[in-house]
Amino acid sequence: MIHRRSAFLSAVCLLMLPALVSSAAAPAPARPSPNKAAAAASVERHRPELVDLANQVWAFAETALREKRSSKVLADYAEAQGFKVERGVAGMPTAFVATYGEGTPIIAILGEYDALPGISQKAQPTKEPLQAGAPGHGCGHNLFGAASLGAAVAVKELIAAGKLHGTVRFYGTPAEESVGGKLYMIREGLFKDVDVVLAWHPSDETKADTQSSQAMVDFMVEFRGRTAHAAFDPWNGRSALDGLEIFTHALNMMREHVRPSVRIHYVIKDGGDVPNVVPDHAKVWVWVRDSKHTSVDELLERVKQMALGSAMAAGVESTLRVQSGDYEMLVNRAGERLLHANMTWVGPIQYTAEEQEFAKTLQKETGIEQKGLNGAVTPLNENPGDPEGGSTDVADVSWNVPVLHVSVATAPTGSPWHAWPVAACGGMSIGHKGLTFAAKVLAATMVDLFEQPEKRAEIRREFEASTQGSVYKGYIPDGPPPLPKD
Ligand SMILES: [Zn+2]
Repeated sequence: MIHRRSAFLSAVCLLMLPALVSSAAAPAPARPSPNKAAAAASVERHRPELVDLANQVWAFAETALREKRSSKVLADYAEAQGFKVERGVAGMPTAFVATYGEGTPIIAILGEYDALPGISQKAQPTKEPLQAGAPGHGCGHNLFGAASLGAAVAVKELIAAGKLHGTVRFYGTPAEESVGGKLYMIREGLFKDVDVVLAWHPSDETKADTQSSQAMVDFMVEFRGRTAHAAFDPWNGRSALDGLEIFTHALNMMREHVRPSVRIHYVIKDGGDVPNVVPDHAKVWVWVRDSKHTSVDELLERVKQMALGSAMAAGVESTLRVQSGDYEMLVNRAGERLLHANMTWVGPIQYTAEEQEFAKTLQKETGIEQKGLNGAVTPLNENPGDPEGGSTDVADVSWNVPVLHVSVATAPTGSPWHAWPVAACGGMSIGHKGLTFAAKVLAATMVDLFEQPEKRAEIRREFEASTQGSVYKGYIPDGPPPLPKD
């Protein structure tokens, strides 16, 4: 849901894990391993197929829980590569799990493939939709799914050759941009037996994500009143819209009395039908975010009181229904160091003069500085501070199993996200280079995790320390996922 150039935890995590805050010492280089070289070679060998998968998903551009063709091409490819594929998991026809190997450790990787509505765009540096009004991959998830699957295939080949022992698993996770498909997969217990989960996200830079993401809750507040003629007998009416307006006024006043890290945004979905009828129905859709879910919980309690009070003031009734939400990302510093080492081993991403030209045209078209593309690996930042704006359901996974996460450049520096430039780059070589880089880094890191039980143990210890005393409860209502009706 939500945007994501992921950014991960910080001050909070530092307080929780003082022993893990490192000194200024240079991070350790990647551990050499012939299996890593073989994994990177596998990604290179499968590159045309992975690019083809990414291009197909890019062209399908299917939104949350409608990713039928996108999930099918990825699941079919996994099956063709020898994975056992379970489709339609957790009540979502477009969710699947692909598994190869036996026994432990179980190392998993996440893939996303949902698009965003209204962002259709050709793979060119000037704004022009492929199909006017249609969805597009403005968050680069077409690359996300294909690259993660490429990494899983590389590891699968090493297990098949007897070079690694254990299980590799790819999670096809739908509906990240709305609904939060992973929350339903967590509720189903699908991550219970996993040792470590890896994930990445397209970005305008390449870095191990040591900064958290924001926690958020997504809810709908509805008001029900009594209709009447707005001029003839308004005294008989009770306006649901009045209730809504008092509520949003209260919400906006609350902004003064929350921490600076809080974000509140809403859209009015229903404000009645016509001015000459007192509206008996009104509806507002709200998101509240902060750096920690515990703060979000407190804010939600305040908002619930506001909904009740607003309804009382207007003489109407209100209901508040939580629809979805995310926890903040739990950063695993031991894991991020491992990722960083492997990024340095694989990188930097090299671009051609044509690609830089494409990027600069994009930057010119969007009115940002023409810096071009940055393929360098950003130095590991051990103290990144509060999360930037944005949330992800990957964060919910991180409270159930250790998650290691990287961002990889797939678009020019400063690109507006959830926007046409990201979709443009995702359908051409700039995005494909990010895909290949991400697949190699994730595959190499998985090799480390298979080969080094002590590293897995260190990651697990950090995860246990971070989650100690907390009980995870995802922001989803009871019942099945909200599948689209059409
Ligand atoms: Zn995204």
